[in-house]
Amino acid sequence: MFNPSSAVSIDSINVLSYKINIDFTKFKSKTLSSSTVIKCKPLKNYSVKKIKFMLLKLNVDSVFFKDSISNKYTKVDFEYNDTLIILNKSLDYTSEICIYYHGNPQKDEMWGGFYFSGEYAFNLGVAFSSSPHNFGRVWFPCIDNFTDKAIFSYSVKVPRGYTAVCGGLFIDTLQTPDNCTIWNWSHSIPINTYLASIAVAPYKFVEYAINGRNTVIPVKLAAIASDTSKLKSSFKNLKNAVEIFEDYYGKYLFERVGYCLVPFNSGAMEHACNIAYPIYAVDGTLAFETLMAHELSHHWWGNNVTCSNASDMWINEGWASFSEALFTEKIYGEEAYKKYINKIHKEVLQFSHLKDATVTAVSNVSHQNTYGSHVYKKGADMVHTIRQSMGDNNFKQACVSIMEKYKFNNINTSDFIGEFSKYGTSQFFLKQMISDTGFCHFTIFKQNSEFKNNLWETDVTYKNRTRMGNHIYDSIPYELYVFDKNFKKEIFNVFLGKNENIKFQSKFKPEFICFDFDGKVSDAITDEYILTDKTGNYNLDYAMMNINITANDDTSLLRVEHHWNYPDEYFLDIPGITISKERFWKVDGILDKSFKASAIVNYDGSKLTSYTSGWLDNKLLQNNAEDSIILLYRPDAISNWQIENNITKSTGGKTDKKGTITINELKKGEYTFALKGKQQSSGINEFNKKKIKIYPNPAEEYIYAIWNESSSNTYYEITDFSGKIILNKDTENKNSVKIDTCGFINGSYFFTLFRNGLPIVAESFIISR
Ligand SMILES: [Zn+2]
Repeated sequence: MFNPSSAVSIDSINVLSYKINIDFTKFKSKTLSSSTVIKCKPLKNYSVKKIKFMLLKLNVDSVFFKDSISNKYTKVDFEYNDTLIILNKSLDYTSEICIYYHGNPQKDEMWGGFYFSGEYAFNLGVAFSSSPHNFGRVWFPCIDNFTDKAIFSYSVKVPRGYTAVCGGLFIDTLQTPDNCTIWNWSHSIPINTYLASIAVAPYKFVEYAINGRNTVIPVKLAAIASDTSKLKSSFKNLKNAVEIFEDYYGKYLFERVGYCLVPFNSGAMEHACNIAYPIYAVDGTLAFETLMAHELSHHWWGNNVTCSNASDMWINEGWASFSEALFTEKIYGEEAYKKYINKIHKEVLQFSHLKDATVTAVSNVSHQNTYGSHVYKKGADMVHTIRQSMGDNNFKQACVSIMEKYKFNNINTSDFIGEFSKYGTSQFFLKQMISDTGFCHFTIFKQNSEFKNNLWETDVTYKNRTRMGNHIYDSIPYELYVFDKNFKKEIFNVFLGKNENIKFQSKFKPEFICFDFDGKVSDAITDEYILTDKTGNYNLDYAMMNINITANDDTSLLRVEHHWNYPDEYFLDIPGITISKERFWKVDGILDKSFKASAIVNYDGSKLTSYTSGWLDNKLLQNNAEDSIILLYRPDAISNWQIENNITKSTGGKTDKKGTITINELKKGEYTFALKGKQQSSGINEFNKKKIKIYPNPAEEYIYAIWNESSSNTYYEITDFSGKIILNKDTENKNSVKIDTCGFINGSYFFTLFRNGLPIVAESFIISR
């Protein structure tokens, strides 16, 4: 629920500092007793008639207001409804308010809040399912949003023998007569409420210093004694991580680097200077070190420059996830980086829309997808693409510039685009990568080379489609690779888009050309290549084909592209065939005359909700049609599909929708799955292929679909990207239909005509508003 009047009131106060005083001596009974002193002032142009702070389900005992003239606290009346404290007091100038409260700090249903476990008590500052996501209000009264930053200090009383670790720098401890210890910590850097932290346990510290860019950065890590040596080993590369991020994002701005181990089994939390880090990730190995890097990188993306709204969480989380890959590149090399990005990219193509139960852009996500797969994974994927399009120097400069310009401040996506577009990339391109849904998909249709004026001039026609996109991509920077038969190459920087045609001149006769040989654009293609003069088995997991080269006397370059888009149905002229609407492969390259290989492709229509496999051929295999699955082949994009008979098929279990097809003799060309069956013989040929036209495309409010002949027993069906049926209606013997699409969300759809219950012809269209 959104109440504008209360929202204005909450956001009209600027907090300068929070002084949090906690008696946590009863943390084992999950209670705290606190007072928080809030120094605040009204924001410019606001008249604050009643002061309001958020505080969640604690008991408020009393509230005092400090008079600025007498400097004395006087008690004020308040109302409290478990969410808001409303003081019967106006705020006219900088003032201090002290609130006393106690109770059980809350936990979010999904993730975040206060956790109590044996000897440990700790907070996680955001909540995945609560609104707002900021979760300072579970332990202190505050303005709980992503924009108001304040200075924090903490004073925490715990039983003697326990350590209270908070954000900022350690100040001192005090021993009290009642056998307790008070731990004092203080930030000098302003942070958001969700970055304030507390953790209590019998902690010991591991302390050292890192020589940062400008200053020596103290490191203070907290763990119980039995974990400290594993901590040192697992954090071996922490120093390198600081150096890498300082190199790319500018100097580390916070008082110290700090991590604090907590018994939590689902991730970490980037509290400023005091990252809550799961004990499981500190096993003495480096297995989880990208998590360490992720959380550290938040001290630039999130803790320094914060998303100004939860819907722009990609600025925090997309960047932190990308930073994992950057860390990997600098420690383990470019191949490791590529592998890391490829893994993310494939996962995004295969699962993000399923995990988030929607297709969304990276920016402007809904509340429930704030911490979803599009934000983290597609966000990282797109940062990679942006980086590659700019070049590393521009990329670094843009990052540093953002960090300086918006230091200790907030940005939204348009601030980001505005700043990055100053460094060798366009606003138009950035907007498409971040604010539009889906993935671009460009496929070479035909090419023709002529020798002219001592150069080879090549004319390339390509097709521009999209996977799950809500618009037609345009002016996307790509590298066009051109190889001659001796593997000599030239690289051309081209912009692909609406034009669907490019010309280039090369010094040699092109033997093989392709887009994005080096994987710089995260589009709807996952591709790999093999360059070898040997035989052997190559499992191209990213391109989803297992190749077994059995003969190869000299060097061969074999490139396999897995296309996450429907194959071209226009060239299907075989009766009774239903072609896949999900994916196809393209095999190309420069092969030695002796080259011979077989290849295995897996079909998989399973629907595992763990999203670890499957979801590839669901539409094709929706009726358990494993017996009918066949492989189609065509030598190039302008040839008709034919049934590939030289295969070995292995269905395994007949109902698991999983199996393999071995291509006994792999050829250059395109491959895709299809279904063949008796029941489908009254098929597509009667209507003549592709005699269906949909316009406008992309569409907004309506579409027209027209096909070439009317018939009885015909109906049409509209399905979305996931195969979900949106509309299903009889054609009423007509050969055209106008469909109201106002209720359709942005994205790509299929229009399929059925006669006598069998699919006849289909065409895709896009809704984009
Ligand atoms: Zn994160």
